[in-house]
Amino acid sequence: TPVVGVLALQGGVAEHVAALERCGVTARPVRRAEELDGLHGIVLPGGESTTMTRLLDIFDLYEPLRERLADGLPAYGSCAGMIMLSAAVCDGGDGAAAPAVRPLGALDVTVRRNAFGRQVDSFETDLDFAGVDDPVHAVFIRAPWVDKIGDGVSVLATVPDGPDVSERSEAAGRIVAVQQGAVLATAFHPELVEGDERVHRYFVQIVRAR
Ligand code: GLN
Repeated sequence: TPVVGVLALQGGVAEHVAALERCGVTARPVRRAEELDGLHGIVLPGGESTTMTRLLDIFDLYEPLRERLADGLPAYGSCAGMIMLSAAVCDGGDGAAAPAVRPLGALDVTVRRNAFGRQVDSFETDLDFAGVDDPVHAVFIRAPWVDKIGDGVSVLATVPDGPDVSERSEAAGRIVAVQQGAVLATAFHPELVEGDERVHRYFVQIVRAR
């Protein structure tokens, strides 16, 4: 049985552990560098990327985790987890730099934090997800979107146009799920949708394929 870690410094840890276990893998919370040993994959949950950056330093996890990711450890990040997996981060509507966030550089993308702006800073919508048959219900909470992707990054989902996003028209068409090799990221929170583990299963398939 594959063992998948869940970075457990902050954020939606329990929901990812539960979703992974429903997919038939062993889920292990990770707070210390030693707990990275023996993992076949790792999930970085949602939460707050500035806090996660600070805690990675305090727990001496930043460099060990960065190295494991650079070595090809399969990884999945949701929301703040997507921000942490990215190569570069900017902030809000004006795209200012986000100096308080130090991403781990596992995914060749630039991510914009809190991208959706005030009117729709949290919303839910159904969206098509490449590799999953039927639309996925997506919960966005002060979510990022992906501004730029490098070669080798595939787009798995974009925000559909519709009433959920019409208050901020530039949100439609934005990239909200990507994959590069064994690294997957979503701007939304599949772990909050009970009874639907399809995105986690998609990640577990990536893990099993390694
Ligand atoms: N806005 C948060 C951040 O910048 C992410 C929110 C989330 O993970 N739900 O880290």
